[in-house]
Amino acid sequence: MDPDAEDHYAALGVRDDAPAEQIEDAWKFGVLAFHPDRFRAGEQRERAERITKRLNSAWQTLGDPVARARYDRTRRNGKSDAPPKVVATRSIPCPTCSTVGRIPDNGGRQTEVRCSACGERFAVIIGAHLLDRPRLSGPMWRLRFTAPLRSDDGRIREQVFRKMPQELSLATGETVSVVFAPKGTRPRYLIRHAPGLDMGWRVD
Ligand SMILES: [Zn+2]
Repeated sequence: MDPDAEDHYAALGVRDDAPAEQIEDAWKFGVLAFHPDRFRAGEQRERAERITKRLNSAWQTLGDPVARARYDRTRRNGKSDAPPKVVATRSIPCPTCSTVGRIPDNGGRQTEVRCSACGERFAVIIGAHLLDRPRLSGPMWRLRFTAPLRSDDGRIREQVFRKMPQELSLATGETVSVVFAPKGTRPRYLIRHAPGLDMGWRVD
């Protein structure tokens, strides 16, 4: 099990200085996206139940200002050697060699990263929020999926995808990342994030 998952902030995928509304948002979207009723298969459903439990336990503490302050104090004392700020990291696949690396969440802004396995440089958007479900757009012979993504600094971009796998079943508010093909602006992977789980699909 990911040791970060023990941490309430890591469980909700937020920074430990996140404002109360952001914590509530992360919890609400998480329990909605991973509601066990949305998963039919046994193993997937069990995992969804575990995630939901974890989200609720994090919310019980972080959603209450007094409990949160107490938790913050214990958390700081418990890790005196660790830096005080936890930045959530996301599992991001390299578009060239598919090696998955842990990359810090940058709040949904586009940045360039380098694959530690093959050295390829590629653009990524990490930890953006889906403002609406992806919708079909364009002429019939060239249909595309368009999804509005919001970064933590409030910027909104319309991201276009060639494919949108049904299994992603994205819901409004979910946290996602986009990996672009090297030297291009075409998205190759779309990754859906949840506590302890990053699910990526090819979208080109
Ligand atoms: Zn690589």
